[in-house]
Formats: sequence, C-alpha cells, structure tokens
Amino acid sequence: MVPVQRHFLVASDFDQTLSFNDSGLVLSELLGAHGFQEKVEGLARSNLVQQGGELAYLLRHDPEFRGVRREHLVETGRRVRLRHNIRALVEFLHRGLEGCRFSFFVISAAPREVIQSALAGIVEPAHVFGTELDYDDESGEVRSIKRVPAGYGKVAVLEELETRLGIAPDRTIYIGDGNSDVHVMLHVNNRAGYTIAVSENTQLARIARRTVLSDDAFSVTVPILEDVLGRGVGEIRTLFESNGLTLAQWDKARTDRVTVGDTRAPILGGEGNALGLALADDDEAVA
Ligand SMILES: [Mg+2]
Repeated sequence: MVPVQRHFLVASDFDQTLSFNDSGLVLSELLGAHGFQEKVEGLARSNLVQQGGELAYLLRHDPEFRGVRREHLVETGRRVRLRHNIRALVEFLHRGLEGCRFSFFVISAAPREVIQSALAGIVEPAHVFGTELDYDDESGEVRSIKRVPAGYGKVAVLEELETRLGIAPDRTIYIGDGNSDVHVMLHVNNRAGYTIAVSENTQLARIARRTVLSDDAFSVTVPILEDVLGRGVGEIRTLFESNGLTLAQWDKARTDRVTVGDTRAPILGGEGNALGLALADDDEAVA
C-alpha cells in the first residue's frame, strides 16, 4: 500500500517575519530619504493603499523614492538583517517528515528584488512573491507597479498557489507579523488552515492560532509540529537536535517564547546551549 502523503503549503511574510526591520526602512537609509516611518503612518491612516503596500506607493509618488532603480533594491536586500536559521527552516521543510511534505513560499509586499537578494542561496527565486515593478528602459527607474501582494493581494497569491499545487485550503499554513497579514490570516483561518503570528501585534495575536516570539525563524516549527502534526514535546526536541539545533528555552504560555541554540557552532562561554525546557500553562498560573 502506498503511504498517504499530506502536502502542506507553508507561506511566510518577509518584513519582520523573516527579517528584523522593514525593508522600506533599510531602503530609505540607503537613499538618505527622510521621514519614512511618518510617511508610512500617514498613508496607513488615510487607507489609500492596502496595509503593507505603502512602500510601493512611495516608489511611484514620493520624490525621494522615485529615482529608485533595481540595483538599489538588490543592495537593500543585502543589508537586511535576517532572523537566524532561515536556511535550517527551509531545508527542514524541503526534506519533510514521514507522511508529510511541505512547499515553502514567501509572500510579501516588499519589492521582489529586495527579498530575492536577501534570501539569495536560501530560498529559490521562483518561491518569492513580492511587489513586482516595471523599470524604464533608459533611466532604469521604476516606471510602474505591476502587482502588490499586500492586504487582500496576499490572499490572491495564496489562492493561486493552492490551485497550482493542488493543496486544499485546510493544508495551508501562514506565518506573519503585522497588519498587512490580517486579511490573509482571517482568510486562512476561515478555510480551516493554520496561522502563526511572530510578533506581539495585538490585532494579529487575536487572529492567529498561535503566537511564537523568537529571534529564530526555525521556531515556527514548534506550533506546526505540535498543533498541525500532533507531535509531542519529546519528538519536537529530537527533531530540533536532528537539525543541528537545540530547543534551548521554551516558555509555554498562550505566547511561546523560543530560544534556539546551534550545536554546529563552537560553544563559547557555554551560553545559549542549555537544554532546559520550562512548561508553564497560563491557565494553571492564574491563582
Ligand atoms: Mg511583515
């Protein structure tokens, strides 16, 4: 008998989900542009563009961003600080587990060139969906915007991927951190998929099935293994170890705070590799 293979779509946001800072902020520093955060907040208040699509708007309409060319975006990607162990996460998902396989994609409103450059050699370029820009042949400057996967735009990409890969909506897992992920998370939950928040954004934490706080991208495997695949704590710890990592700290509450150690790196001062597991359930903690 052929064993049943469950195929999951794992889709992740980029800015502040796989990285620490918004790529728009990194780009504005590269350009020496001023007041990026204020401009984004002003645009968000006006609801003119989908949440997360503010940078795309600025690239077309703000004088300080209008001269951006492809090479600026590639350089921005190089400067983005990534969360730890994205490669380990991607390789783990690529290998799959007995009876399960995963297809991993990045869906983000950040310009595609930025994400592809930041994740070069880690995530296949074809697995990156970002804002698609068109460039002027002569000046090389951004001429138009073809597509922005922000807000409802993320739902559109996700549905295309589900159809293309033949994955049922209840086998879709989405990981995100911010307001730009609200639409897609509501959509995924509504169709019995699974959602993970990786920030303390209160709006998102209420929507996501689980919240995991960690500097380490591999930490999202904890809720996937536990809730989606029904694996126990012992199995999860073993899986971390078989990926060259340790589950150094796991404070289990409604929000999971995960610190991941690396057994492949030389141990300096003995920190960060402690094999301790603290389980504290919120409900029991309430007196
Ligand atoms: Mg984000």
